[in-house]
Amino acid sequence: MSGTVIVGASLAGLRTAEALRKNGYEERVTLLGMEDHLPYDRPPLSKGILTGTVSESDTFFRTADHFTELGVEVKTGVRATALDTTDRAIHTSDGTLQYDNVVIATGAAARTLPGTDSLSGVHVIRTLEDATAIRSDLSNRPRVVVIGAGFIGAEVASSAREMDLDVTIVEALPNPLARAVGTEVGRLCADLHAEGGTTLLCGNGVAEVTGNSTVEGVTLTNGVTIPADVVIVGIGVTVNTGWLEDSGLDISNGVVCDEYMSAGPTGVFAVGDVAAWHNPLFGVTMRVEHWTNAVEQALIVAYNITNPTEQRPYAGIPYFWSDQYGRRIQFLGRSDADEVVIVDRTRESRKPVALYRKDDALGGALAIDDPMTLMPLRAHIMKEGGWEAALAAVQPDS
Ligand code: FAD
Ligand code: NAP
Repeated sequence: MSGTVIVGASLAGLRTAEALRKNGYEERVTLLGMEDHLPYDRPPLSKGILTGTVSESDTFFRTADHFTELGVEVKTGVRATALDTTDRAIHTSDGTLQYDNVVIATGAAARTLPGTDSLSGVHVIRTLEDATAIRSDLSNRPRVVVIGAGFIGAEVASSAREMDLDVTIVEALPNPLARAVGTEVGRLCADLHAEGGTTLLCGNGVAEVTGNSTVEGVTLTNGVTIPADVVIVGIGVTVNTGWLEDSGLDISNGVVCDEYMSAGPTGVFAVGDVAAWHNPLFGVTMRVEHWTNAVEQALIVAYNITNPTEQRPYAGIPYFWSDQYGRRIQFLGRSDADEVVIVDRTRESRKPVALYRKDDALGGALAIDDPMTLMPLRAHIMKEGGWEAALAAVQPDS
C-alpha cells in the first residue's frame, strides 16, 4: 500500500495527517511541503510577529518528535511538480511518490504588485520569512504605506500603529474589507482605522510605487504621492495550483471539488485555501481563505479517506476572526446579502452586530467584540424563517 500523501505542510495538511491517525488510519502518511519549516501558524504573522509579542518559535504547531510519534513522514523543502491521477503518482523536486490517496493542501501565495520586484522596502506577507523581514524594517521606525484595505491591510496597519508608526492605507474601493463584509460594515471598519490613528485613503488605485533601488513613495491614480520607507502589499492571493496544470483536475477556482471534498478521480481530495467545494448548506460552490475552514475540511477529508463507503459532505458555516486595534471582528456565514441590518446592542456603537439577510434566512452575521451574541446566531443560518428569529435574538435588552 502506498498510503496517503498530503501535499502542502501547513494548517490544512497538518490537521489532515493528525485526523487520519486519530481515525485509526494505519497506512503510510507522508506530509510534503515546499517550505523549509515544519508547519507553522499564519495568523500571528500579521499581528504578534510584527509587534514582537510573539516569537518565531511560538508559531510552530508541533515538534519533529510529534510527527515521529504519530508515524507521519514529513518532507520539508520538497515541491510537488505534477500529479498523474492515472498512475497515482506525484512528481516532486525529490523524486516520484505513489499514492492510494492524495490530499491537495497547497494553499495560496500572496499576489505581488507588478513592477516592484527590484525595490527594497516593498513586502508581501504570507510566510514566516516575509513577516520577519517586515519586522526588521519596522524597527527602523519608517513611514509605512499599506496597499489594499483587506485583512492584511487592516491587521498590518493595526500592528504598525501599535508600534506608534505613521501608517497610511490606500484602497481603490470606497470602503475597506468591502468584499469580505459588504459596504455597510466596511464603513464600521473604516471607523476602526480612524480611531486607531491610521490614515485611510479610499477611492483611488495605485499608479506607481516610486524609488530607485529603495522605495520612496506610492503615487495614486489621482496624482497624489504618499512618501513611504516601507510598503506592504495586501492585494489578495493566487491559489497554488500551477503544479496541477496537466493533471486533468478542474482548477478554474482553486481545486474544484464536490460536497465530499473529492476532486473527481478516485482518491484525490483537496482542503483549505486551495479547495473550492459545493457547500450543500448554501447550495453553491465556494472557496474560503480562513483558518477554521482549513481545520474543518481536514477532519472531513480524513474521515472520508478512512470511511470510503460512508462519505460525509462538508456543509460548514464559514467563519473568520480578525484582530484590529485591540478589537476582534468575527464573522459567520456569507456576506453577499439582500439586506444588511446593523444593530447596536449596547447603544454606544462599541459592540455592533450586523445581520446579512438572504431571502427569508440569515445568510451571515458579524460582531465586533461580542462573541456571546454572535455564536448563538449559528443556529439560525440558512434555516427557514431564520431571519426573523435572528433579528429578535439581537435586539437590545429594553
Ligand atoms: P497555506 O497556509 O497557504 O499552506 C499551503 C502550504 O502548501 C504552504 O506551506 C506552501 O508552501 C505549500 N505548497 C504550495 N505549493 C506547493 C507545492 N507545489 N509543493 C509542496 N508544497 C506546496 N485566518 C483567520 O481566520 N483569522 C486570522 O486572523 C488569519 N490571519 C492570517 C494572517 C496572515 C498573515 C495570513 C497569510 C493568513 C491569515 N489567515 C487568517 C488565513 C489562514 O492562515 C489560512 O486560511 C490558512 O493558512 C490556510 O491553510 P492552508 O493549509 O490551506 O494553506
Ligand atoms: P484580501 O482580503 O482579499 O484583500 C485584498 C484587498 O486588496 C482588497 O480590498 C482588494 O480590493 C485590494 N486590491 C486588490 N488588488 C489591488 C490593487 N492592484 N491595488 C490596490 N488594492 C488592491 O487579501 P489580503 O488582505 O491580501 O489577505 C491575503 C490572504 O490572507 C487572504 O486569503 C486572507 O483571507 C488571508 N488573511 C486572513 C486574515 C483573517 O482572516 N483575519 C488575516 C490576514 C490575512 P478588491 O476587492 O477590489 O479586489
